[in-house]
Amino acid sequence: MAAGWEAVIGLETHLQLRTKSKMFCGCSTAFGAPPNTQVCPVCLGLPGALPVPNGAAIRLAVRGALALGCTVHPKSIFARKNYFYPDLPKGYQISQHDQPLATNGTLSFVSPERGIVNATIVRLHVEEDAGKSIHDRFPKATAVDLNRSGVPLIEIVGGPDLRSPAEARAYLQTLKQLLEYIGISDCDMEKGSLRVDANVGGSVTQQPMLYDSRENTVRPQRSKEESHDYRYFPEPDLPPLVLTPEFVAEEQSELPELPPAKRDRFAAQYALSREHATVLTASRGVAEYYENVVRAGAEHQAAANWIMTEALADAKDHQDQLRVPAAGLAQIIALVKGGTLSHQAAKRVFAEVAAKGGDPRTIAESLGLIQVADSNVVAAWVTDVLGAHAPEVGRYKNGETKLMAFFLGQVMRASKGKADPKLAQRVLEEKLASAS
Ligand SMILES: [Zn+2]
Repeated sequence: MAAGWEAVIGLETHLQLRTKSKMFCGCSTAFGAPPNTQVCPVCLGLPGALPVPNGAAIRLAVRGALALGCTVHPKSIFARKNYFYPDLPKGYQISQHDQPLATNGTLSFVSPERGIVNATIVRLHVEEDAGKSIHDRFPKATAVDLNRSGVPLIEIVGGPDLRSPAEARAYLQTLKQLLEYIGISDCDMEKGSLRVDANVGGSVTQQPMLYDSRENTVRPQRSKEESHDYRYFPEPDLPPLVLTPEFVAEEQSELPELPPAKRDRFAAQYALSREHATVLTASRGVAEYYENVVRAGAEHQAAANWIMTEALADAKDHQDQLRVPAAGLAQIIALVKGGTLSHQAAKRVFAEVAAKGGDPRTIAESLGLIQVADSNVVAAWVTDVLGAHAPEVGRYKNGETKLMAFFLGQVMRASKGKADPKLAQRVLEEKLASAS
């Protein structure tokens, strides 16, 4: 960046809404169907076919706007965005232009450079997707798949509030988390459900950016098209979109607890550090899991520790599935607390329950992992160990007390790891003090 210049980035995010059918027709939105099998006269742009707005899509769009703190307007206008592209059979896309569904929201995110930033959401509008040009299917020819044509999208236009690619990344992570929480989209970048363009430098230059979900990076993208004059005009085939205050209020009341509120509540209600509360509320699924483990009786911090280590590591390797049921994890935690399982043994039980299911205690028994907390049994192991190491006992009595760790290790070995270590240490101390 040249001296005196500051990067100014505004992101435009396109999000596919989670609906069964398209924005203006009844065709399926299911991903992965053979090309051009989910089409009809409306989304093929055949003459005379008339669009009908999808109520479910409007509902989800309003929910998204409210979660972003936008003002949802009682009346918005569908508009034609005119351009020519082979995957756009109508020659225009139905979008919204000068009267969008919603304006003036905020997204607070944590900038790695500036702390909490309140980024402006300039507008949120509803539109339909275009089809897809496929360049690698036939040699020297481009194929067009119109299954995506007419799929419902919202476009979320952020203000020029971001100062670096790292901030853009943090903004997108926060936005994606929010959108996943409210369940209006699967936010799957591989399927094209979430796409991002960036305007860098505002009026100075236009540089589209590409967000790579695998790498979680933002990088410049080769410009597909120059800034266009799209000759917007109101869509003559659709009346204005009118929303009643009751409809908007109903959607507002159905919003779930959003990530910042949930994080603050977790920190307060469960006496967790802010870092732990942030990790546990990163996704709605993990947050629900945590609360179910606590509800099943687990101590708050122990539940947090187990989820942040074992459960999330296991989920990462298994398509984000939390494979040990909440009640099962609570039981494992209780077995450790009660001295029945060592922490190491409990990890093995966790892995076994994750892979095969079943009752933790039964599994611990079948694996021979139950800790022996019977003082007579432990005392017998201690007696054997001390009897077998008379020279070390002598050294211990002469003041070499660090040998306690050695004796404890031997007792754990003699018990094949089953002795309750705290009990074993206590018995060792007693016997070493009394033996003469
Ligand atoms: Zn259709």
